[in-house]
Amino acid sequence: MTIRHHLTDQLLMAYSAGELPEAFSLVVATHISRCDECRARLASFDAVGGAVLTQCDAAPMASGSLAATMAMIRSRAIEGVGPPRERPAPVSGLFPAPLRDYVGGDLDRVQWRAVGGGVRQAILRTEGPGSVRLLRIPAGVAVPDHGHRGLELTQVLQGAFHDGEDRFGPGDIDVADESTHHTPVAEDGPDCICLAATDAPLRFRSLLPRIAQPFLRI
Ligand code: ZN
Ligand code: ZN
Repeated sequence: MTIRHHLTDQLLMAYSAGELPEAFSLVVATHISRCDECRARLASFDAVGGAVLTQCDAAPMASGSLAATMAMIRSRAIEGVGPPRERPAPVSGLFPAPLRDYVGGDLDRVQWRAVGGGVRQAILRTEGPGSVRLLRIPAGVAVPDHGHRGLELTQVLQGAFHDGEDRFGPGDIDVADESTHHTPVAEDGPDCICLAATDAPLRFRSLLPRIAQPFLRI
């Protein structure tokens, strides 16, 4: 798999610092599990963060803070979106480990809901701001033309889409923000399956999707 579209330094730094909301952490973790290049860049940000910490003056800690920190590390490790970050063991199937934990298995466990135009989605349960969903888009079908009020991360798991400028295939991640107006169209071939996180409702430009928006929760 040749990955052409990667995470930005900003996102990797925020992930390394544990500052991303859960919805975005899941997409970043999913990309990293497939991408040696971003995993290596993340490791260097982790090292910089650790070096900064060791150079800080010691501060008095409240009693119980070590236990609380260890509990937090353990719970994040179980979720699969925090450390450890070794190269994940390869698993058969479409979904890498972080995503499997949220779905409760692989593609056959996803509970799809039709959202019109042959597109199906499954919203995954996360805490905090933003939301994350799996999208399944048949060949030739477009996600309606829309802008963004916030950040949108779209990780391709299967198939490919074209947004008018670039092609995004398996392993690629599309980072879109306020300046992006695109109409992603799924390529011929197998259904395009993506994992997408958004931190604000998408701003659809045609009337019909806007009416449907509250019902689709996108
Ligand atoms: Zn990458
Ligand atoms: Zn978009």
